[in-house]
Amino acid sequence: MKIKTKLTLGVGLLFVLIVLLSLVGSLNIHALKSDTSEILTANYNSLQYCRTMLDMLESDDVHRFDTFEAQLNMQEKNITEAGEAEATQALRSHFQRYTTTKDSATAVRIRQDLFHIMDMNLHAIERKSKVAAVTADKAVFWIAVSGTLCFVIAFVLLINLPSNIADPIAELTDSIRQIAAENYSERVNFESHGEFGQLAASFNTMAQKLEEYNNSNLAKLMMEKKRIETLIENMHDPVLGLDEQLNLIFANEKAISISGLRKEDLIGKNARNLALHNDLIRSFVRDIAGEEENAVSAPEPIKIFSENKESYFEKETLRIVITPTGERIQRLVGHVILLRNVTAYKELDFAKTNFIATVSHEFKTPIASIRMSLQLLENEQTGPLNKEQKSLLESIGEDTGRLLNITGELLDMTQLESGHMHLSLLPAPVNSILSKALNAVKIQAEQKQIRLNIDCPPELPGVLADEEKTTWVLTNLLTNAIRYSYENSDIHIKAMQVEDKIHLVVSDHGQGIAPQYRDRIFDRYFRVPGAKKEGTGLGLAISKEFMEAQGGQIRLESELGKGSTFTMVLNAA
Ligand code: ADP
Repeated sequence: MKIKTKLTLGVGLLFVLIVLLSLVGSLNIHALKSDTSEILTANYNSLQYCRTMLDMLESDDVHRFDTFEAQLNMQEKNITEAGEAEATQALRSHFQRYTTTKDSATAVRIRQDLFHIMDMNLHAIERKSKVAAVTADKAVFWIAVSGTLCFVIAFVLLINLPSNIADPIAELTDSIRQIAAENYSERVNFESHGEFGQLAASFNTMAQKLEEYNNSNLAKLMMEKKRIETLIENMHDPVLGLDEQLNLIFANEKAISISGLRKEDLIGKNARNLALHNDLIRSFVRDIAGEEENAVSAPEPIKIFSENKESYFEKETLRIVITPTGERIQRLVGHVILLRNVTAYKELDFAKTNFIATVSHEFKTPIASIRMSLQLLENEQTGPLNKEQKSLLESIGEDTGRLLNITGELLDMTQLESGHMHLSLLPAPVNSILSKALNAVKIQAEQKQIRLNIDCPPELPGVLADEEKTTWVLTNLLTNAIRYSYENSDIHIKAMQVEDKIHLVVSDHGQGIAPQYRDRIFDRYFRVPGAKKEGTGLGLAISKEFMEAQGGQIRLESELGKGSTFTMVLNAA
C-alpha cells in the first residue's frame, strides 16, 4: 500500500472515530434529555395543578374558584396518560356542580377525582424514570464501546504507522552508508509493494550496477597497474618509488642491481632506515627532506660501481602531488627517483677535458716563445723597424696576449673539471690584491679612457683567500667591466667590510645584462647573445668556482642600459 494511502487511511479513520464518538455521545445525551423533560412537562405539572386545586378546595379565599378554574383549564390541556382525560372530564362536571351546590358530598367527589389524577401521574413518573435509567445505562454502554474501539484503533495506528514509515527509511539510510563505504554488495529487502518497495528495487538495481562497474573498473585498474609495472621494469634506467613516509614502494631490476641489496631487503622498507647502512640510498634520499621545488636534480652525477665497472648516474627526484577527488588542496603522496645513466657522456666529457688540457698545455710553450721573439724584435738591437712593422708587431703582441689568456682560462677550466685545483688559503691584504689586478688592466683602461675609481679604507682587514686566484677573479671582473663599458666612462672599485666578510665591488656604467641572462652568465661557455666582443664565456664560470672553493661568493646586480655591479664576497682574515 502507498505511504500516501496509508497516511490518508490512518488519519481518516481517526477522524471517522472522533465523529462516531461525538455522535454516539450526543444521541444518548439527547435521548436522556427527552426522557427527563417528558417526565417534567407531562406528569410533574399535572401533579402541581392537582395539588393547587386541592388547596383551593380547602381555602376560604374569595377567588378560590377562579384559581381552581385556571388550574383545571391547564390540566385539561396537559392530558398525557391513558384514562386521564375521562378523570379530568369527571373533575370538571363535579366542580361545576360544586360551584352551585357547595355541598360536602360533591367536595368529596372532587377530592377523589384529584387523587385519582395524581395517582395516575405518579405511576407514570415511576414508569418513565425506569425508562430514563435504561436509556442512561445504554448511553454509558455505547459510549464505553465506541470509546474503547477508538482507543484500540488509535493505539494500533500509533504503534504501527510511524514505524511503518520510519523503518524502511532507516534501513535505506543504512544501506546508502554501506554503498558510500564502497560495500557494493549491500542490498535492501523491504516486503512492501508500495513506494518503499519501488525504492528498494531501484536502490538494489543501482547497487548491482555499481558493483558491476566497480568490478570491471578494478579489473581495468589491475591491468593498467600491470602495464605500468612492466614499463618501469623494462626501463633501462634505474627507477625507485617512495611513498610520503619514504617507504620504498617499487624499484625496477636496474635499481635493485645497483643498490647491491636483495629485492626483499629493499621493497617495503623505509629509505631513512636503509640510508643508515647504504651510502647509495642515502645519496638518493638526501635531498627529499625539506625540498620545495617540483623536480630537484642532483648537481653532480653519482658515481656507482656496478656490473664490474664504474658508471655515472644523474639523479632526478620528482615529487608526486595529487589533488584527491572532491578536495581542493594538493597532497604529496610520494617521490619517484629516476637515475639517468650518463656514463657515456661522462666519458666523452673526460676525453674533452683531457684533450683541451693537453692542447692548451701544448699551446702555452710555443705562445710563450712567440712572445719572447716579439720582445726581441721590439728591441732596437735586433735591427731597426719601420712604423708599419712596429704596428704589425703590436697587433701580433695583442693577439698573442689574448691567445695566452684563452689557453690560460681553458687550462684553469680543465683543472676545475678534473678536480685538480690547488688552493692555498692564507691571510692576504686587500690592497695588494687590488693593486695587482689594477696593474694588469691599467693599459686596457687607458686605451678606452676609462677612469678607475678606487675606494679602499686603510683600516680594512685582510682576507682569508688564495691571493693568486682572488687576484685572477678581480682582474677578470675588471677586464669585463672595461670590455663592456663605453669609452671615457667611470668604473668604481670599492672594498668594504660587512660583518665578518670583505666585499670587493666592481661597478661599471656599461650596457648592463638583461634579466633573462643574469642566472646564466656564470655557466661555462655562456656568452650573452649578440655580445660583439671576443671571449670564451669561461671567465665568470671560473671566477664563480674559484670564489666558492674559497668559501666565498660572487654576486651580480645589473640594469640593462645602466651598468653592472659584480660583488666578490670573501672571508675576513
Ligand atoms: P667572456 O670571455 O665572454 O667575457 P665571461 O664569463 O667573463 O666571458 O662573461 C660571460 C658573459 O657575460 C659575457 O659574454 C658578457 O656578455 C657578459 N658580461 C660579463 N661581464 C659583463 C659586464 N660587466 N657588463 C656587461 N656584460 C657582461
